[in-house]
Amino acid sequence: MSFEAVIGLEVHVQLQTRSKIFSGSSTAYGAAPNTQASAVDIALPGVLPVMNKEALKMAIKFGLAVNAQINRHSQFARKNYFYPDLPKGYQISQFDLPIVANGHLTIDLDGEEKVIGITRAHLEEDAGKSLHEDFHGMSGIDLNRAGTPLLEIVSEPDLRSAAQAVAYLKKMHTLVRYLEICDGNMQEGSFRCDANISIRPQGSTKLGTRTEIKNVNSFRFVEKAINFEIERQIDLVESGGQVIQETRLYDPDKDETRSMRGKEEAHDYRYFPDPDLPAMIVEQSYIDQIQQTLPELPDKRTKRFVDEFGLSELDAAMITQDRALADYFEGATGCAQGNGKTVANWINGELSAQLNKTDIDAEHIPVSVEQLGTLINRIDDNTISNKIAKTLFQQLWQQPSDITVDELIEQQGLKQITDSGAIEALVDDVIAQHPEQVQQFKDGNAKVIGFFVGKIMKASQGKANPKQVNQLLQQKLS
Ligand code: ADP
Ligand code: MG
Repeated sequence: MSFEAVIGLEVHVQLQTRSKIFSGSSTAYGAAPNTQASAVDIALPGVLPVMNKEALKMAIKFGLAVNAQINRHSQFARKNYFYPDLPKGYQISQFDLPIVANGHLTIDLDGEEKVIGITRAHLEEDAGKSLHEDFHGMSGIDLNRAGTPLLEIVSEPDLRSAAQAVAYLKKMHTLVRYLEICDGNMQEGSFRCDANISIRPQGSTKLGTRTEIKNVNSFRFVEKAINFEIERQIDLVESGGQVIQETRLYDPDKDETRSMRGKEEAHDYRYFPDPDLPAMIVEQSYIDQIQQTLPELPDKRTKRFVDEFGLSELDAAMITQDRALADYFEGATGCAQGNGKTVANWINGELSAQLNKTDIDAEHIPVSVEQLGTLINRIDDNTISNKIAKTLFQQLWQQPSDITVDELIEQQGLKQITDSGAIEALVDDVIAQHPEQVQQFKDGNAKVIGFFVGKIMKASQGKANPKQVNQLLQQKLS
């Protein structure tokens, strides 16, 4: 029998508000333990939560971006459980009335589009952190993270493979950064996901029993964890066993998932509306106002880059993946007389290579859009060769400066030699020095041309116009 995998994802997105969701403490990452935990965050008796309006705004922004319904009446609920890093004994979350419901996200895998349903997205607070390493026979508790606003985005079980799940996550990651609601930092836990996985016989429409893999924090590990889990479930069923509903943990060192807790230990969260927080009633005019602030979203921008600049779908999608990179593209294209295709080639070639090599993000590209734009213009008008442009680009990357590209070309005497007299002299020289190769050419070895071009370019320190060199060589040799 062949099986089909069914996957649904729960993504936790940390909203980049300055203060926490129900208190005024800072959400900044990396401070000394418990220095950013107020009376509300450590749950002193008698304190009351106050909703952070910015978090609500961000949740609505997200809902609008995935074409969801914004629930004008939503409600916070208490999710009760006991854990050392949860001093209240409950987490404030949303249950039956989430702020966002019924949206969708379109993924693109090898040119095939698939619409993934988003069941809901709700606001909640993060818990603190238990620290086991620094203490002997005890655990430390850091409540700096307690009360950090999260948006939990729950997908429909619409995904059918690990690759689709990763495509969905990447798309989501791009989107929340575009919306400027999350910094997307996966190492710091700003964007993390639980994966629910089941299998069923191919053709069946009934859902199988699922397992849930908790908190995987890199795209690569999500893919590996899901693939491992699909295989494990298939092996189990094929050998006569049954999948049991349980929570599992992925161990990247061993590349396997292990049982964490079974259904028997599953929590009964005893949800009920939080009496300390009134229902959130949102006016339609407020939603409309937020709609106005939405930036152009990645899918639309990709399409525009294809239509407006003639980029390939793939090139456009690579660039729009990152909002800062897409902004850079538009800036440089403006400086390069609208020559978007060439700019895209530079960005997806030279520039991306540098970004990867130097571990710089697109917001901090050291070469300015004017500099890249002018480099392209100077190739275009034959002032410099492509090769010299690349060298200059490297220079500017390594030693960022406000100097203009034209000044740089002037300073270093890099202007291309287009004076045909000067080029002719070089050509004659090289021909005179290499009678053997001239003979080879005459004997029908056309490839020898490349040898001459190389010599001449070298003699001119890369400044001779290669096209003219080629033409002159053809003339003189034949
Ligand atoms: P819970 O509240 O226990 O986490 P939900 O019903 O909210 O459960 O589902 C959580 C996630 O699990 C959703 O993303 C959903 O799509 C997914 N899911 C539910 N049932 C299955 C299943 N049988 N196989 C795979 N994923 C599933
Ligand atoms: Mg769950």
